[in-house]
Amino acid sequence: MSLRTRLTLLYTSTVGGILLLFGVAVYYSVSLTITRQLDTTLHQTADIVRANMRVGPQGELRVVSLVMLDLPADVYVQIWGRDGNLLDATQNIASYGRPLDPVGLQGGTPVYRDLRRGNDRLRVLSIPLEIGGRPAGIMQVGTRLDVVSAAQNTLLFVLLIGTVLAITAAGLAAWFSTGQALRPLASVTDTALQITVAGDLSRRIPYKGPPNDEVGQLINAFNQTLGRLENLFNTQRRFLADVGHELRTPLTVIKGNVGLMRKIKEFDEESLVTIDDEVDRLTRMVGDLLLLAQAESGKINLAHELVELDTLVFDVLNQMGVLARGKLDLRIGSIDQVLVCGDRDRLKQVLVNLLGNAINYTPRGGEVVIGLGKANNQARITISDTGPGIPPEDLPHIFERFYRAEKARTRQRDGKGYGLGLSIAYWIVRNHGGRIEVSSTSDKGSTFCVWLPLAEGSCGEETKVSGAGTHATTNEE
Ligand code: ADP
Repeated sequence: MSLRTRLTLLYTSTVGGILLLFGVAVYYSVSLTITRQLDTTLHQTADIVRANMRVGPQGELRVVSLVMLDLPADVYVQIWGRDGNLLDATQNIASYGRPLDPVGLQGGTPVYRDLRRGNDRLRVLSIPLEIGGRPAGIMQVGTRLDVVSAAQNTLLFVLLIGTVLAITAAGLAAWFSTGQALRPLASVTDTALQITVAGDLSRRIPYKGPPNDEVGQLINAFNQTLGRLENLFNTQRRFLADVGHELRTPLTVIKGNVGLMRKIKEFDEESLVTIDDEVDRLTRMVGDLLLLAQAESGKINLAHELVELDTLVFDVLNQMGVLARGKLDLRIGSIDQVLVCGDRDRLKQVLVNLLGNAINYTPRGGEVVIGLGKANNQARITISDTGPGIPPEDLPHIFERFYRAEKARTRQRDGKGYGLGLSIAYWIVRNHGGRIEVSSTSDKGSTFCVWLPLAEGSCGEETKVSGAGTHATTNEE
């Protein structure tokens, strides 16, 4: 059964149920009110008759003739003696001769009873009469219930017609309004099917209604999911293309050199060095890719130990100094003693990647300065260079995998770069609870700033981390 049918049925049956309860309540309260009114009339008539009764000389019951009394025309009165003889009756029932309510004659207390006399329905009040505390007879006052029946029938008819009309109207209203409300969902289904068939993730579901209602929010969420999926597919496509491209270059070089040696039929030292370099490059790249893949699938365990960042900075500086020697001035700006919790080897990798970039991209005669300190209750490592800077249009993308600014692609370098270093650094820092900021000015240089939480007391054990990201806080000068 469709949602629309279910909602309509639910709505209609709720309205129907409420109307039914309401109808029953109205029917019974109206019937009760009319019956009470009749009872009052019967009671008042009985009072008038009683007020006109006398006690005879032998202590018997005497009634002033009922004909003389001003009684309502539609009320019957009978007065029965103790021995069951009819003492008096109103004109409208004089010929009847039998008690209006035979059962009421037996009772010792006033009683109202509804009964049938021929085709008529009657309501009869039987009141025992007493003289000096002894039973002297019974008075029966009755009236036809036609008014009540007529009122009840009319009310029943009106209520039934009203209920049927209201249920029909509610059903139609529910059917159309749910149809209206659910129509955008049909377009969600259509678009989802079209996307599946055409594989076109760039499509979005149009919605003209208010964006903040439930359907608007659903469509918005769906469109956002589509956006993310599109992004993910594009990234994956680009990633595969990039990997293919980056792998092909060294392989072509290797193949070329092997081909050359085969041709000259001897080992050429220069070719062997080139092959060796390219194999190194491939090994590094595969290693980095593996690391990112593991990071993405959450399979990397990061150690959580106390790391002296100042010692680490000196270590990295010693290691990287070889690259800078004779080319540029690599020095420490300011250094403080700083302790953080984390994985020493991975943090070292961050510094190696950032410092490696600074050294690689800064031209001969330039300067690279590394600084370590504390600010805002956090550890701060800064790596500044006097290189070419990063163009503003590249800045938001440099942490993406395989992203390389145009200059970096074309510039003559030692061929080591392939656009994974910053992605890895970003992932490691993020999984240490920190962040990387970049500020850069064209032709003046760049500054990478790594923020890490300071160690508080002892560090815990290894932590398993998940998810690699490709964004970072960047700002431009
Ligand atoms: P790569 O292997 O190309 O260095 P990275 O992920 O380390 O890859 O860096 C991505 C890109 O960011 C580089 O290609 C380069 O365009 C830019 N970049 C990174 N660091 C610097 C820097 N210190 N100066 C100028 N550009 C830089």
